[in-house]
Amino acid sequence: MLAVSKKWREGDRREDRYAKTEKMRKRDKRTPRSADLKEEFEKPESEWPTTAGYFGARVVEVHKRYCFVSAEKVAGEVDTKDVWLATMARKFLVAERAERNFVAVGDRVLCQVADQRDDTQKADLPQCVIQNLMPRTSKISRIYQIDPRRAGMEQVLAANIDQLVIVASYLNPKVRWGLIDRYLVLAEGQGIPSVIVLNKKDLLQEAEPEFLQACKERVQILRSLGYEVIEVSALDPKAKSTPEMKKLGELLKGRISLLSGHSGVGKSSIINLFKPELVQAVEPDADIFYKGRHTTSFASFIRLGTGGYAIDTPGIRSFMIHEHEPIELTHCFVEMRPMLGHCKFRECRHVDEPGCVILEALAQGRIHQQRYRSYLALLLGETGRTGRVRDIDPEEFEV
Ligand code: GDP
Ligand code: ZN
Repeated sequence: MLAVSKKWREGDRREDRYAKTEKMRKRDKRTPRSADLKEEFEKPESEWPTTAGYFGARVVEVHKRYCFVSAEKVAGEVDTKDVWLATMARKFLVAERAERNFVAVGDRVLCQVADQRDDTQKADLPQCVIQNLMPRTSKISRIYQIDPRRAGMEQVLAANIDQLVIVASYLNPKVRWGLIDRYLVLAEGQGIPSVIVLNKKDLLQEAEPEFLQACKERVQILRSLGYEVIEVSALDPKAKSTPEMKKLGELLKGRISLLSGHSGVGKSSIINLFKPELVQAVEPDADIFYKGRHTTSFASFIRLGTGGYAIDTPGIRSFMIHEHEPIELTHCFVEMRPMLGHCKFRECRHVDEPGCVILEALAQGRIHQQRYRSYLALLLGETGRTGRVRDIDPEEFEV
């Protein structure tokens, strides 16, 4: 009798423990409700209602509590002049708080025209409510590090990008090849093609011969890897008619391009050559909307009169590259990709391991020293620790 009851009690305790761990596990999973809602929120366009009052739109700018969307009268074609102030559907707000930005610039969303009587935003814009998100074809994101409440969470900076246009200037500010490599790695990691634009070619006329030689080598390396490198002088009065600029125009056409690069390299000057439909070009302080556009730290979605769209985002200037495992990082260096898995050790970091095919290729000149240095910088970070997550700060970065 005693034995039975003891057994029973043990069983009970075990059950109890099971229930407790289950409960803990449930609590551990970060906001399961948020995950459910996210699933409900994402819906392919084919499932969107076609009833009156609903319309497809593109997110053109994201702010903390609201965003701006532009209608897509024809699917994929954004009318950046038709701007709406959009808020998230109430039922998704819980999730939005947990995830911070539920939508990102470039996202395609289903909107419902809002009840104008509910106007608390004081905007002279039509208002709508975001009901659904179309699954993204691509994204550029960063992982929160500093804010402990959000640590490890992903912030999507831009979605549905067709290509990354990496803009740098030869001089003033001086080109940082290592930074270009970092952007390339970011794009390769997300499977997005890149184009490199080197601006202020005119300034090379007064440059030192050594600098000229180094630039020439770097351009050759990038081209040999299959990257398009376009050298331009955006300020040249004849810039528009140069074959280089025409080539860039062709590459921008029909695509959504995310512009990245340090401020001052000439991104705006370049964009201006492609007849941007600038929504900002209105009277100052006309309304809160345009003021918002000037002060925002998020991207702007710009329609180019010559075809295509450009996203110009200061946010991209200092984003995080996710923690890099050597294997994953090797995948992002196109020249190393075919060598993946051929080293003697499966966990090879390609630093000092014996039987490393990457080091062998480096010694034979099949991998360029400069690119390998960029690889090391990303792998080891400034402190030399493997896999350290580090911020890309163009101001500090020098390879
Ligand atoms: P952003 O911050 O990247 O948008 O750069 P901006 O387009 O505002 O250009 C920054 C500065 O560089 C401006 O003073 C431009 O006049 C100048 N700039 C732009 N393109 C060229 C160029 O091809 N050659 C020279 N010398 N200066 C340029
Ligand atoms: Zn190796």
